Amino acid sequence: MLDRIKRLLEHFDDAGFDALYITDPTNRFYLSGFSGTTGALLLSRKQYCLLTDFRYTGQASSESPDYKIIEVSGSYNAIIAEFLKDNSLFRLGCEGDHLTYNQFSDLQKMLPGIELKPGSGTVEQLRICKDDYEIKHIEEAACLADQAFAKVLAAVKTGVTEREIALQLEYFMRQSGADGAAFKFIVASGSRSALPHGVASIKTIHGGDLVTFDFGAVYRGYNSDITRTVVIGRPQPRQREIYEIVLEAQMSAISAIKAGVRASAVDQAARGVIEKKGYGRYFGHSTGHGLGLNIHENPRLSAKDETILRPGMVVTVEPGIYLPGWGGVRIEDTVVVEDNGCRILTRSPKEKLVSL
Ligand code: ZN
Ligand code: ZN
Repeated sequence: MLDRIKRLLEHFDDAGFDALYITDPTNRFYLSGFSGTTGALLLSRKQYCLLTDFRYTGQASSESPDYKIIEVSGSYNAIIAEFLKDNSLFRLGCEGDHLTYNQFSDLQKMLPGIELKPGSGTVEQLRICKDDYEIKHIEEAACLADQAFAKVLAAVKTGVTEREIALQLEYFMRQSGADGAAFKFIVASGSRSALPHGVASIKTIHGGDLVTFDFGAVYRGYNSDITRTVVIGRPQPRQREIYEIVLEAQMSAISAIKAGVRASAVDQAARGVIEKKGYGRYFGHSTGHGLGLNIHENPRLSAKDETILRPGMVVTVEPGIYLPGWGGVRIEDTVVVEDNGCRILTRSPKEKLVSL
C-alpha cells in the first residue's frame, strides 16, 4: 500500500493538493485495503488517516496498518477541518464524481478559507495499470468463471430457464471460492440473444436457440468478465456464419493489442472485420473496457478513446453482432496488455460454435 500512496503523492504538486479526501469506496480499498462499508481516507504528504466509525475501527487497524485510524461518530467534516488547521494545509482535493452535492456544501461551510479542488480521476489514473498482485487476482476470478461455465454447460438443455442457468453459474463460482458475481449475469436465448444486455429472464431455452452467456466472478475484490455464445442442437448455416465473423473480429482485436497501440485502433480492428462483412450497423457498442476492482474502468476500447495502451492494463475484447428478431452472437475475453502483445486470462473454449 505504501507504494501506491507514494505514487499518489507524486501527483499532488500537479493537481495543486495539500491533502486529498478519498470517499469513493473502490479508491479507498485500493489505497488502504480497508474493506468495511463506511469510511474515508484523508491523505497529506506527511499523514495518512482512515476515518471510520466504532463498528470498523478494529477491522481498519488490521486491514490498513499504514494508516492512522480515527474513530468518528457522525460527520467527518469537523475532523477534516481540524486536520487541515493543525497541519496548515489550505487546498483539499475532493472526489466530485462521488461526493454528493449536500456533502460538498456541508464541507464548504465547515472549511472557510480552504480551497476545495476537483480530485476525481486522480486515484483512477493509478489504477489503470495493474500490478502483478492485481493481475493474479483477476486471473483467479477468470479461472473461477471458466470452471463454473464448464459445469453449467452440462446442465443447459431445453426447458430450463435462463434464470436457473444464471443461478447455477453463480452457485458454482461461489462454491469454488468467488466472493460473488461480478454483475447481473446475461443469459439471453433465442431472439433475446439479439439484446446486448439481455439479463437472464424466465424464458425457457428451446432447441435451435443461440444462447449468449455474459458473466464473471469477483475474487478478493477483483472482477473478471467473459462472454460465450452456444447453440442448442445443430447449428444453422447462418448461425455459424455470424459466429465466425464475430470470432474473426474478436481475434483480430486481440492480435492488435500491445503496449503503445491506441485503444481506438483495437476497436477499429474488430469493427473493420464486421463492417467488411456488411454487419457494421449491427455492432452498436464499443469493443471493450478496462476492468479491475470495478467491472467497468478505463480505458475503453472505443472509437473515441485515444489512450495509449500500457503493460498491465487489463481490458475486455467483446465484439458482437445483434440481428433484431433473429438473435445475436458475442464473444468476450479478458486480457492483460504486455509489451509485445497480450495474455488472455479467460480460457473457456471459443474456437467454434459449441452445440449442446
Ligand atoms: Zn461481459
Ligand atoms: Zn464486458
